[in-house]
Amino acid sequence: MRYVEDFSDERQKAWCIHCGSTIASVPANRDHVPTKSLLSKALRQRGADYDRGAEDPDGYLPQVFTCKECNAGFSEDENYLLCVLHAVISGSFYPNSDEHPEAATVLRSNRHVVRSLKTRPDGQLSLFENLPPFTVYPDMERVKRVVVKNARGHAYHEIGEPLMQAPTHVMISPLTLEPDSKVSQA
Ligand SMILES: [Zn+2]
Repeated sequence: MRYVEDFSDERQKAWCIHCGSTIASVPANRDHVPTKSLLSKALRQRGADYDRGAEDPDGYLPQVFTCKECNAGFSEDENYLLCVLHAVISGSFYPNSDEHPEAATVLRSNRHVVRSLKTRPDGQLSLFENLPPFTVYPDMERVKRVVVKNARGHAYHEIGEPLMQAPTHVMISPLTLEPDSKVSQA
């Protein structure tokens, strides 16, 4: 996306939006919102080129400063969601690398996540993993943490507003299950 000069109040930016630590007093680094690994390879490449100084005005990927500990703390859940999405998009925990090269690589290098996805969050084994339709029962608490992290990051990045309190409601559903009216508003 195109970088827009940030004129929001600097005084609002003194804390880590996730834990409230004073950014100046803890190790901090940039965190991408949306989560970079969830973007396409082409977008990630453009973002990296932009950060290196490439003259592509639309290559910028939104970033916010958070404390290092929080930033690192989301990595496992983001990786988990990445695996869920690749499994759903490719329709398998073991995708064909010709048809879905990225999914095949991600899922092959995250066997522990695949193992956990074959067990439902209620502890029951998914007995029908090989029968269509391919069904995944992700741990929605983990997905929710990534969604809230991104929502906070976007609010902070786009409107300069630290929203540190817990949300009252988080709604997650596949776009294909949404009525058309809602999808067109999204
Ligand atoms: Zn933090």
